[in-house]
Amino acid sequence: MHSSFVNVDLVECVLRFLPDFQCLASTILTSKTIYNVFQQHPRSVVRSVAYNLVGPALPQALRFVRCQNAQLYSKSVDELLGEDDIQKNPVLSSEDITSLVAISTAVQELENLFSWRMKDRRFKTSQLSLVESTRFQKAMYRLSLFSAVYGHNAYESNIETDSDEEETDSALEEAKKLRKGFFGSLSTPELRDIQRIETFLRGILARAEGVYFTTIPPATYSPESSFVLYCAPHNVIDVYNGGLDCITEWDPDTTEEIFFHDDFINGPLTSVLVDRNEPPLLPINQKQPIIDEIFGEHDRCSQCQSDTAQGLDLWGPSNWSYLWGNQHLYSIAQLLKGRVGANLADRAHFLTVLRETLAEELVGGLFDYKTPTYITWNKADWLCSQCLEKFIRDHLHIWYLGQKVKRGDLIPSNCWYGYNCRTQTHKLAHAQKLNHWCEPIKGDAPPTNF
Ligand SMILES: [Zn+2]
Ligand SMILES: [Zn+2]
Repeated sequence: MHSSFVNVDLVECVLRFLPDFQCLASTILTSKTIYNVFQQHPRSVVRSVAYNLVGPALPQALRFVRCQNAQLYSKSVDELLGEDDIQKNPVLSSEDITSLVAISTAVQELENLFSWRMKDRRFKTSQLSLVESTRFQKAMYRLSLFSAVYGHNAYESNIETDSDEEETDSALEEAKKLRKGFFGSLSTPELRDIQRIETFLRGILARAEGVYFTTIPPATYSPESSFVLYCAPHNVIDVYNGGLDCITEWDPDTTEEIFFHDDFINGPLTSVLVDRNEPPLLPINQKQPIIDEIFGEHDRCSQCQSDTAQGLDLWGPSNWSYLWGNQHLYSIAQLLKGRVGANLADRAHFLTVLRETLAEELVGGLFDYKTPTYITWNKADWLCSQCLEKFIRDHLHIWYLGQKVKRGDLIPSNCWYGYNCRTQTHKLAHAQKLNHWCEPIKGDAPPTNF
């Protein structure tokens, strides 16, 4: 590129449209001329790229990043930087940028999950409209800021090793006042968006604890789960990907800090709503905040047509893997019939096969072994959780037998008691001698003379 042919305005325009900082860095390093164009307006180009990366929630994201990096712990909402800080201090430092990239990646991944679970069950990438996405992201950054300023780090920075009970009580009261002040600075619709996100995040945490089939998570959850929201709500994406074990800061022996993360979000938030004469909880069975339109909201189960499970509570090839991420797949083992899950000869191998199989492959694979009762059932059906569980229960053992055949195992003749046999769980020789991954042809009384 010869400088005489370069249209400076055009180059600058292209730079401003780059989607992220990696692209910006590699583009300005391609030629001295482009680098020089960048150097004429570095700050505004960087800000444009930050906007392309984060979107309309950039002011909320930047506020989170700057308050966190400045360690503004346990400050009242007036002492924090505001959402207008991007206007007051428009120059983004390299620390701002590094933090923005990290948090926006996590928030975008959470938006993908939110869309998949709460808007369109067919797609793993966000199908949220711009308006819905902006609501989601603003609420997510505000919630992250709340935890960064009043959560675990604030506790650690305030902690006095020799504080007595009275001092702890007054510190807790003070903390609660600050938290309520924070939510008090937001409008009621903004608080509703945060409530919706809190419920969604709780659903993911409940999934990590083994609760799968529901859009409404249980009201109570373990201290370990509430600790995640207390530290950094955006880390819920790590829990989704790697389970609760990835939260390494968690100390099960934590003593009084538990009072600080108990009801950390909902306590002050509902208290603000009650002061405003608003119902404290999100209404059930009414339109929920953030999402304007849900794909197939009133779809019914392809098999039972039950009206208790609709739309978002239906399961098919595109969302089986939400139910059973790889680290949870072995929980499907609980759906095995009879006692075959405790079969001494195959138990370990069965669990290994499950761990090595993706949810899509496993549940999809069951359809290759369909029994006559299920002749009208298809892989592409949308099923309610009850029908899906019933289908898995009736085919899982047959599927596993198929896996054994595939790997070249010789299948011995069937035990009369099939999966119900008691002996298979305590006599290895018997478990090895006969096949138990089959229907019983005799009652499930324990065989006496095996
Ligand atoms: Zn059904
Ligand atoms: Zn047996």
